[in-house]
Amino acid sequence: MTIVDPVRTGGAVLAAVPTRLLIDGEWRDAADAARMEVVNPATEEVITEVADASLADVQAATAAAAAAQASWAATPARARSELLYRAYEEVMRRQDDLAVVMTSEMGKPLAEARGEVAYAAEFFRWFAEEAVRVDGGYSHRPDGTARTFVLKQPVGPCLLITPWNFPLAMGARKVAPAIAAGCTMVLKPAPQTPLTTLALAQVLLDVGLPAGVLNVVPTSRAAEVVEPVLTGGTIRKLSFTGSTAVGKLLLEQASKQVVRTSLELGGNAPYIVLADADLDVAVEAAVQAKMRNMGEACTAANRIFVHRSVAEEFAQRLADRMGTMPVGDGMVDGTLVGPMIDAASRDKVVRLMEDAICRGARVVGGGNVPAGTGYFVEPTVLMHVQPGSELLSTEIFGPVAALVTFDTVEEVLAAANDTEWGLVGYVITQDVDLAFEMGERLEVGMVGLNTGLVSTPSAPFGGIKHSGLGREGGRLGIEEFLDVKYLSLPIREGARA
Ligand code: NAP
Repeated sequence: MTIVDPVRTGGAVLAAVPTRLLIDGEWRDAADAARMEVVNPATEEVITEVADASLADVQAATAAAAAAQASWAATPARARSELLYRAYEEVMRRQDDLAVVMTSEMGKPLAEARGEVAYAAEFFRWFAEEAVRVDGGYSHRPDGTARTFVLKQPVGPCLLITPWNFPLAMGARKVAPAIAAGCTMVLKPAPQTPLTTLALAQVLLDVGLPAGVLNVVPTSRAAEVVEPVLTGGTIRKLSFTGSTAVGKLLLEQASKQVVRTSLELGGNAPYIVLADADLDVAVEAAVQAKMRNMGEACTAANRIFVHRSVAEEFAQRLADRMGTMPVGDGMVDGTLVGPMIDAASRDKVVRLMEDAICRGARVVGGGNVPAGTGYFVEPTVLMHVQPGSELLSTEIFGPVAALVTFDTVEEVLAAANDTEWGLVGYVITQDVDLAFEMGERLEVGMVGLNTGLVSTPSAPFGGIKHSGLGREGGRLGIEEFLDVKYLSLPIREGARA
């Protein structure tokens, strides 16, 4: 493959993105000079190459983070807060450019990419506000013999690992609280989408982030370079977003040095349409929950349970709605459905679809793979997906809606909870009491009631069961980067107040 002219794929914007490693405030080539290609999934063309970090580079990045830790922790919270606020403003100022970079390497429609930039920027604004609100506690022992002072301190150098599906937001959701808490970082983006992370790093340097606080090491050699660093004793915190399989592996590796670990992993979200649902709301929220990011979202509606009394009408309306969504290159105006990230992902979605159809699912709309270049899949609605179909037990990660009918609330709750995952669930009903009751009984970390979108920087995003550990965003997000310590001071005899 040859590298295409950047003018055709985003022009000067792409050409301006750094393509080297960021270590100790300097852009550097990999120690062994290795580089890796970045491919546009809509055109299958190589848009550029970036430095491909070796173990020596990741170790150098870790050493830089360790060296910067003490002075960064000692930087006043107000200074870190103001830097975060400048980052918020600067990310928004570069919204269009960052969106072009993201669409070029990841494929999502430009309008969605702009939306992700705004969502990512909000993490900087949110944590600018949180940075100056870290508090502790003061109390006397119940027997009156000592004072206890509780304080919070940065956990130390962090290893941050992000996926390709939301390349800016998943990075911002980790980097912003780490900056707020006073932690230094080594950030490893997914190899498919290094440019967005490198562009974000440039923003942070431009707003004054000191050398060594953030180090960025794109690599195609994750398994080889991450384990030695994670088990090496310098890293004190791992924050990972990605698949459950890799999360479990990293949790095991983190245990060697008892590294604090946050995991944002996969999901298998139930989306439940009750008999009394407003079908306009049910269809629009389903489109949001299924089609955002072409279905390549951990929060995507994976199993759509519809009450038998409304199943035919809902399926047809959803298929009609999804059928109107233009599929194509995200850079083209009007596109609402971009490509899958790569050929393997496209092939997996097609295999899951074919398996469900073989087992008896009915195609209500879509079902085809567009010919030509790009890893596209047509928006598809399948009804009567049968038990045992892989679609129901695997993250689909594509624009395929898998519908199952049900008769009773108890039956659907049991089916919804019958999965090892527990990230998010959705309930569509006009009965507010039932919405709350079901929300409380779903085994997940988040529930959308009459909405298909739950993500916001102001809420504690995260899952239970095999969907993860810890929370990102909200009041809890910064806590993941803070250690708790208490000081105990005896109260002298006769000095008790
Ligand atoms: P992935 O394959 O688990 O990869 C995630 C990151 O981990 C990538 O940077 C990847 O780099 C790295 N990685 C893979 N193997 C590794 C190893 N042995 N050691 C160290 N790092 C390793 O996931 P993905 O395909 O990029 O992303 C999709 C998954 O992320 C889905 O399951 C989705 O649900 C989940 N996700 C969850 C959330 C959430 O907040 N819960 C948000 C977004 C996505 P390489 O590709 O080079 O291996």
